[in-house]
Amino acid sequence: MKLRVAQQVKDTEAEGPGVRYAVWVQGCSLRCPGCCNPEMFVHGKGGVELEPAALAAEVLATPGIEGLSVLGGEPFEQPEGVAELCRLVKAAGKTVMVYSGYTLDELRALVKTTPAVQAVLDTADLLLDGRYDATKPETTRRWVGSTNQTLHFFTDAYRPDDPRFWTSNTVELRLERGKLTINGWPAPADLLRAR
Ligand code: SF4
Repeated sequence: MKLRVAQQVKDTEAEGPGVRYAVWVQGCSLRCPGCCNPEMFVHGKGGVELEPAALAAEVLATPGIEGLSVLGGEPFEQPEGVAELCRLVKAAGKTVMVYSGYTLDELRALVKTTPAVQAVLDTADLLLDGRYDATKPETTRRWVGSTNQTLHFFTDAYRPDDPRFWTSNTVELRLERGKLTINGWPAPADLLRAR
């Protein structure tokens, strides 16, 4: 199975602790008002289709990264490909952070019909869950978009009292081969995109 990927950033500090390889998957049916990635809503077109093993090899060949962050789009709407990607990266000793618009309770309910959802959860050191609510912007927790979302610490790789989780959010701009990418905290990233 292939994974449809909307965007990749090889070395970001705006999508989780440390320097991380970030993968945004294409497709999200949740469509939160104010989502900063509406171009990633549509399933089946946009982005590129990649073999998870090839993408994992690229992640692991990137020097200096602490781990992988998977965002979207909605990672759990392509759970087989995401699970394979995350499994390979985790097996090589890197950490895995997954961002989802589904709550953890919703994901656990989905496991009954889609076992790959559990396979993704099994690889994750960190899960940020819940719909993005633009009326409740988060101002204290880093990498969290809105106050209704929960950051779950599934392993000992990270601790909630790690000061990296409590500093200001950041936005990154990159110009690579003539293409500008903006990633990081939703509100300021949106302002930059509007210009
Ligand atoms: S779940 Fe995430 S990608 Fe999907 S609409 Fe909500 S904020 Fe956007």
